[in-house]
Amino acid sequence: MTQETGGFAALDLNPNIVAAVLATGYEEPSAIQQQSIPIILAGHDMIGQAQTGTGKTAAFALPILNKIDVSKREPQALILAPTRELALQVATAFETYAKQMPGVNVVAVYGGAPMGPQLRAIRNGAQIVVATPGRLCDHLRRDEKVLSTVQYLVLDEADEMLKLGFMDDLEVIFDAIPATRQTVLFSATLPSSIRSIAERHLREPKHVKIQSKTQTVTAIDQAHLMVHADQKIPAVLRLLEVEEFDALIAFVRTKQATLDLAAALEAKGYKAAALNGDIAQNQRERVIDSLKDGRLDIVVATDVAARGLDVPRITHVFNVDMPYDPESYVHRIGRTGRAGRDGRALLLVTPRERRMLQVIERVTGQKVAEARLPNAQAVLDARIKKLTNSLAPLVAEAEASHGELFDRLTNDLGCSARALASALLRKATNGQALDLAAVEREQPLVPSFAPRGERTERSERGERPDRGDRERRAPLPLAEGRVRCRTALGARDGIAAKNLLGAILNEGGLARDAIGRIQVRDSFSLVELPEDGLEKLLSKLKDTRVAGKQLKLRRYRED
Ligand code: ADP
Ligand code: MG
Repeated sequence: MTQETGGFAALDLNPNIVAAVLATGYEEPSAIQQQSIPIILAGHDMIGQAQTGTGKTAAFALPILNKIDVSKREPQALILAPTRELALQVATAFETYAKQMPGVNVVAVYGGAPMGPQLRAIRNGAQIVVATPGRLCDHLRRDEKVLSTVQYLVLDEADEMLKLGFMDDLEVIFDAIPATRQTVLFSATLPSSIRSIAERHLREPKHVKIQSKTQTVTAIDQAHLMVHADQKIPAVLRLLEVEEFDALIAFVRTKQATLDLAAALEAKGYKAAALNGDIAQNQRERVIDSLKDGRLDIVVATDVAARGLDVPRITHVFNVDMPYDPESYVHRIGRTGRAGRDGRALLLVTPRERRMLQVIERVTGQKVAEARLPNAQAVLDARIKKLTNSLAPLVAEAEASHGELFDRLTNDLGCSARALASALLRKATNGQALDLAAVEREQPLVPSFAPRGERTERSERGERPDRGDRERRAPLPLAEGRVRCRTALGARDGIAAKNLLGAILNEGGLARDAIGRIQVRDSFSLVELPEDGLEKLLSKLKDTRVAGKQLKLRRYRED
């Protein structure tokens, strides 16, 4: 037996199935496949418990393909899946694995599509039916015999089906299938509702449980941030200001991205380097050694280039680009939290990548909480804290060496101690912005997304959320005589347009139609006001508070 075909070939499956599986690029059966396939082939009922992404589909699809009689053109296997999407996925997988078995027909049965063609496909000789329970029951009501030839029943993602309220439908389906059938149930979790179904409808089931390998991620504090693709570098720069990291690895997808981000970081004064597949092995080792001993603090890497990288100093992993699959996510974040230390993993998510985030959450069995980009105030606080920390050891002893010089300078310059200290601070901080207005000017706020609720609604209507967001970011044309004003209060402060309108009407003494459009964003809001008398209006509103916070409305110039 050769190395490449070892695993699957040893499983006693029809060679046509093994060939198709190898042709799809699988090299070895996964753990759940290794254990389930012999049990199902032997005809036992089975309960399989394993996380998403462990390869459950092939675990039941391969032995079922092995068992069906292709010459009989009637339903022999029924797979139940919780959603239309999963049903289609499973049906497609069956087709892939059956590529070298002529005569196998698979039909997917789900709601939202006409029933007629589905029923015809079943009657026309599909041996494998993949269905959502609700729609299948509709078919049963039209034709109660439709499942009478089924010998193999699979409940895929049983816990999800129960969560979606399919309990009663499942009972109807169980009753419509011959009692002599073989039943297999897969589920990520086994709550008592599932165990009771198994007790009533499975016969002496064998249990297969695959321990999730991804539990190591629990020691790592994980969060995600929603950003637009073109805002990733400013977002990373801003996050770095407030994250207290020792060493950090940032993951991106392309060589070019390693270079771009590393350059942006170096320009900000970070000790950063790129690590990608173009970098020679000896240079690569130098980069890793530098990260180990502190000559570098940040490495920007692709997955391939970071393979095997083990640096205990790493406190943070930034997933600047989304990993290709959940496994590489787990792999990436495993670079931190080594040797029992605390680790932190941040994931930047663009609108179109939201689904991948859900997949990661399902595979790791953990929620990756949503975090916000730090605002200007947080950046300022972090900068002042760093400055304070860097001065603390000096104030204890610098007076002895530099006290006399200070006296002489105040004397020579004829200035106060405060004036001289301020001059020294400005020099020492190299022109870094250290007041709120300056920080706000220096880092234009990265527009964030609408709150979750609104987002979901839009995506449920089938619109591409990113398109909408891009449009909304383009400045809207202003009406004649109006200017745009900005406040740092936004949705995250609990502000709605009507609060702003009310405050400005009441305290500013304006007529309703003098106020133009009000746009409430997550971390700021824009209000269109008459240019005429603006100074006066803004000074009237100087102390106005909305939702308990200072409004601080300012003219907003977009260039
Ligand atoms: P689950 O149902 O457990 O969530 P899937 O059956 O959907 O997992 O498989 C997850 C992914 O792993 C799919 O892309 C599938 O093609 C792939 N896969 C399954 N088995 C193997 C294998 N033995 N080798 C490589 N990839 C596999
Ligand atoms: Mg599955």
